[in-house]
Amino acid sequence: MHRQNISLQQGLYAELMAHAAGLPNDELFAQMIASQHGGAGALPSGLGLTGKDFAALLARHFPGFGMAAQAEAGSADQRALERDDVLGLLLEHRAYDNMSEQWMAEIVTYACMGNDHLWQDLGLHSREYLSRLMVQNFPALAAKNEHDMKWKKFLYKQLCEQEGVNVCRSPSCEYCADYLNCFGPEE
Ligand code: SF4
Repeated sequence: MHRQNISLQQGLYAELMAHAAGLPNDELFAQMIASQHGGAGALPSGLGLTGKDFAALLARHFPGFGMAAQAEAGSADQRALERDDVLGLLLEHRAYDNMSEQWMAEIVTYACMGNDHLWQDLGLHSREYLSRLMVQNFPALAAKNEHDMKWKKFLYKQLCEQEGVNVCRSPSCEYCADYLNCFGPEE
């Protein structure tokens, strides 16, 4: 990434964190917003939320931080059914600890449509932050990933299992030719 973008990203991240409300998702949202502004990740401005929701997120997690809450207008969505399924899966497992779980579910769903590793498409600093995101916001779902499968693969595998569809080529992960695709390093 261009050096100017990296310093823009780091500066915005530091500013956001200086205004953090002290809530569990502050740091994760700050990484996403700063990365998006620096041109990293797959999220649009507003993180894929409506302008109203993004403004509410800023007010709740970074009170006093002056940033225009712009959200990109959505285009015709050819993957609407897929999005609905991913969003439904996440919401079904939300922790119900705080209102930002709903925003997080929408943002993660948006990022699932990207092409890189999910933590990268979200603009997080590493995969560990995505694991933290899942545990904090969707604990019952995170707990099912007991073998630490790649998160996007894991989410889609849950959907297949819900539908009774087995997309795996092998009955067991241990002997599957796709093992590294599902469990290999995400860097
Ligand atoms: S390793 Fe193979 S069997 Fe296991 S989830 Fe991946 S594709 Fe399915």
